[in-house]
This record gives sequence, C-alpha cells and structure tokens, in this order.
Amino acid sequence: MIDERRGDGNITPSRLREAIGSARQKLQDRAAVLAAALVMTLVFVGAGGLAGRAAAWGAGALFLWSAVWPNARTMNSNIQLRRSLADADRSSRRSVWMSIVANLPDAAIVLDSNGMVLALNRALLELFPGALPGQHISQVTRAPELLTSVETALETRQPHSCRLDFKVPVERSLVGTVAPLETTQTSEHTPSLLIVLTDLTEQDRLVRMRADFVANASHELRTPLASLKGFVETLRGAAKDDDVARDKFLKIMQQQAERMARLIDDLLSLSRIEMQAHVLPRDSVDLGNVIAHVVQTLGPIADERSVAIDVVSSAVPPVVTGDRDELIQVFQNLIENAIKYGRQGGRVVVRKEVVQSASGLDRISVSVADDGPGIAPKHLPRLTERFYRVNAAQSRNAGGTGLGLAIVKHVLNRHQADLQVDSTLGQGSTFRVSFPMRRQT
Ligand code: ADP
Repeated sequence: MIDERRGDGNITPSRLREAIGSARQKLQDRAAVLAAALVMTLVFVGAGGLAGRAAAWGAGALFLWSAVWPNARTMNSNIQLRRSLADADRSSRRSVWMSIVANLPDAAIVLDSNGMVLALNRALLELFPGALPGQHISQVTRAPELLTSVETALETRQPHSCRLDFKVPVERSLVGTVAPLETTQTSEHTPSLLIVLTDLTEQDRLVRMRADFVANASHELRTPLASLKGFVETLRGAAKDDDVARDKFLKIMQQQAERMARLIDDLLSLSRIEMQAHVLPRDSVDLGNVIAHVVQTLGPIADERSVAIDVVSSAVPPVVTGDRDELIQVFQNLIENAIKYGRQGGRVVVRKEVVQSASGLDRISVSVADDGPGIAPKHLPRLTERFYRVNAAQSRNAGGTGLGLAIVKHVLNRHQADLQVDSTLGQGSTFRVSFPMRRQT
C-alpha cells in the first residue's frame, strides 16, 4: 500500500530541467535589455537639450526597471526552484521507500521525522488492520516498546530494536527493528525511519516444541533406566543369593529394556519420517495386502486379550500410492491400539471402502473400530501430539510409547491422507484414514 494522497509528488526531473532552462533564458534576455538601456541613457545625456534630458530620464527609468525588477523576479524564481528541487528530492526518496516497503515480505512502515506514516505494506495491515498513511505511529499501535524505540531512534538517529508480544486477536511474538534513514532533511513528509516487524511466532513455537520433545524423550528413557539401575543394585546386594527374586527382577529388567528399545525405535521412525516429509511416495501399495499382514502379525496380542479382528472389504481393490513399510506402521499402530485400549474379549472391525469426498473425487477409506471404553472429547484434538496419552499408566502397562499416533499422523501427511477420530464414551472409538485414489502414471 502506497500513500499517494499528498500533492507534492508531481515534480519530475524533466520538468525541473525545463524550469531551469527557461529561468536562464529569462536572465539572458534581461541582461540584453539592461545593456541597451544603459547605452541609450549615456547617448541621450550626451545629446543634451530638453528632449535629450527627457529621453535620458526615460532610458534611466528603463535601466532601473531592467536592473531591479528582473533581479527581484530572478530571486523569487530561484527560491521557487530550490523549493521545487527539495520537493522533487523528497518525492523521489518517498517513491523509492514506498516501493521498497511494498515489496518487503515482513510488515514494514516508513515514518517522517514527526512519526507520521508515509508508507506501509500489506503485511503490516495484517497486523494492524486500521493503519493508514498520514496517521501518527501512536494511532497505528499503542505498543509502548515500539513507541519508545521510535522515539529513541528519532532522537539518536541510531537503530533500535524491541520485542513485541501480542495476546489478541491471536498470540504473536514479533521483533521490531527501527532504523533511521539517511537524509539531509528532517522536514515533514521526508522518509526518516523504517520500521520492520518480523514475526517470530512460528519460530518460537518450533523452539518450544523441540525443547518439550527433548524433555519428554529424556523423561521417557530415564524412567526405565532408573528402574534397571535399581534392580541391578538389588541383585548385586540384598537379592544376591535369592533365586526367586533374581528371576522376578530379571523379567522386569527385560521388560524395561524392551520398553527403552521400543521408544528408541519409535523416535528413530519419527525422525526418519520427518526427514522424508516433503518427498512424495511413489510405489503402488495394496492396502488389502498390508492389512492382512498386520492382522496376522498382531494375532498373538489379540489372542492374549481374546479380541476378535474382522476385516470387511468392498469389491474395489484398495490400491494407493505409498510406502509399504510406513503404511504397515500406520495400521499396526491403529489396530494394536484398538486391541490394547479396546474391550478385553471385544471385537475390532477393520473396514476398507471407496468413498466420495466433498470435492467429488473418490478416496479410499480404512476404518479401525473397537468396542472399548472410548475417549472423552477433550482428548481427541491432542491424540496425535508426541507423548500425549489419555491414561499414562495404562499406556505404559500396555507397552505404549506415546508416539504411535504421532507417527501415524506424519506418515499420513506424507501420503496426503487424513485421519479422523470419532469416539463415544462407553461405546468405542473409530480411527478412519482416507487416502486419495492412486495417481495415474
Ligand atoms: P501409545 O503408545 O500410548 O499407545 P499412541 O500415540 O498410539 O500412544 O496413543 C495415544 C493415546 O491415545 C494412548 O495412550 C491412549 O490413551 C489413546 N488411544 C489410542 N487409541 C485408542 C483407542 N482405540 N481407544 C482408546 N484410547 C486410545
């Protein structure tokens, strides 16, 4: 957005050149008249007599008019010229800054030496929708940190930066850089300060997420590690010669070691999938085949909990573009969760079907439904967060790492597929995955 409302922007360099040329021509003309009047006065004075004196007076008056009047006119026009030059300079500097600001990706605003807005861009309007050229900066924002930085930069002519945290309308963290612009003039309407506001919200969120992730992963690893250390000490001390205790403790130690190994496997999977996030899978994968493989692998766990797994298919072969190993991971996590968190002695139904989406394009949908206790609505939006568990103790007892659904979400993103979770307390949960139909190659 560029401010073109003020009327001082219409003096172009070519117009200026024309004005200077015509002023010079006028001066030359006046010099010629002056010389002629001087010669005539001298001639008439030399001629003497009444007519000669009258003519000398006339020529003298002409001389005076030529000498004084043009000078006054010339001075006037010089002043005007200087003003025009200053206006042109100011106007071209403003145009330059306007186009710089308009093309900056970050929110930016240019102020004059009085703190009045001369130019601002679209990104700034997203932050401050009411901002307008011609307003004072304090009408654009009341953020005291930014106003202080503007004041300091105007006073000291040194760059200044500040941090801005907004809570409404959405939470945002910004860093404001206020830079004085080099100028010989400090008058009104002359670009004097450039403010750039860089949005750090996403960057801050990523830093926080990374820190949380490291803290969570360390905590998850530290718990089984502490338990292993404790048992090693007990076995070397108090239970040294106790065969029964030794067997019992070694079994627990094995479980803890397996838990650590699972956690490390899941962490590595997650990091591998994240690294490939922008590479589209290319293979053709038959989901019927993938699900049959997963159901067979999970047979022993389902038997342990006396859970029956039914696979229901429509006639269309469910072939998608994907990475077979990653898709095995997706359905392994979903079906294993349905067995672990569903009803003991219950039923898990895996249904593959072709559905029409709102856009009219067919999608392949696979749902995994259990008849377990279900999940309260408040947990549903957070299920795919790393280490998020509805019931941490139940998850740990069942050998969960809290990373299964995070892996599912990342794999599905890479496959341009969606995950939808529906659950009713006391009735069970349904995790539905929907894939685009295989691309024609
Ligand atoms: P975990 O390794 O703990 O199973 P997941 O990321 O796979 O981690 O699942 C996250 C949490 O979601 C689980 O801890 C569990 O509380 C809940 N959950 C997942 N699937 C189901 C389900 N079918 N029924 C009830 N709760 C479930």
